[in-house]
Amino acid sequence: MKKRDYYEVLGVSKEASEDDLKKAYRRLARKLHPDVNPGDKTAQKRFQEVQEAYDVLRDAEKRRAYDRFGQAGRPSMGFEPPSSGGFGGAPGGGFDGTTFEGFQFEGGDLGDLFGNLFGGRARRTEPEKGEDAQGRIEIPFREAVLGGTASLSLRREKECPRCHGTGRLGRDVCPTCRGRGRVAEVETVRIKIPEGTEDGGTVRVPGKGGPGSRGGSTGDLYVTVRVTPDPYFERRGDDIHGTVPVTVKEAYAGAEIDVPTIRGTFRARIPPGTRGQKLRLRGKGVRNPRTGQTGDHIYTIRVVVPKAVTPAGLDAVTLLDSLYEEPVRKDLPRGL
Ligand SMILES: [Zn+2]
Repeated sequence: MKKRDYYEVLGVSKEASEDDLKKAYRRLARKLHPDVNPGDKTAQKRFQEVQEAYDVLRDAEKRRAYDRFGQAGRPSMGFEPPSSGGFGGAPGGGFDGTTFEGFQFEGGDLGDLFGNLFGGRARRTEPEKGEDAQGRIEIPFREAVLGGTASLSLRREKECPRCHGTGRLGRDVCPTCRGRGRVAEVETVRIKIPEGTEDGGTVRVPGKGGPGSRGGSTGDLYVTVRVTPDPYFERRGDDIHGTVPVTVKEAYAGAEIDVPTIRGTFRARIPPGTRGQKLRLRGKGVRNPRTGQTGDHIYTIRVVVPKAVTPAGLDAVTLLDSLYEEPVRKDLPRGL
């Protein structure tokens, strides 16, 4: 199958800046993410295509190589995986390191580079990057806001340790993997949750996907994060909202009260004549990993009146009622 041009995949021009690439990638990844399109094979294919294109183009060196081979019409490649000793027999011939001045062809970079560049299903000698894996975790609200670690148990395919991925032991089929070359095992993966992670966000864990073939690098794991709602705090953008009840006296006379925030409890002064307004504690909200700015804690004052109605209470509120400077409902719309 002929691969589409990486620039075309991302819908950008050949001159696209790093920023253009990132924007295009983000937009497409959001649209095509498997969690947004459950069971949609076409979207899944496109998602992987986009991932692969971005992996190459974001890396200046790989991009240069891609641009160059692209112009040369993608020469036919034949080489051994790096693990077997660098450039071995090239079936097509005419291919040696000198064609590639300015590039390093050592270690895993080679497999990585060509695994990505030429995708290589057609050519059996090419290293191939492993499949990306998907996972999901649910984390508590506080951990999402403040960051932390979570762990996820998942079944991972690994290269069979007995036959080293070949599926064969001499002339026999490998009994451990029954010829598949890989075995599945349950692994617990530690996932770093960045501060300010949003509900529905994705965390990439490099190298925890499927095994590569013929020396290709391991795929990555993409974890979708669900954030358990908190019974008290509510996140809106980078701000966190909460409600603080006060007594009639505190509202009327002003007071110093304790305000719980995600970053601990803080003393705050509410002014005399406080009604139901929203007050703000600056910088006690969510630190946005993109902007580096921290949002605010916004708390709404709720005036609570005593439940029991008593003669003394009635006397007190009758007196209070006589103190209003103007009718409290004077600004409501009329004549509707
Ligand atoms: Zn095996």
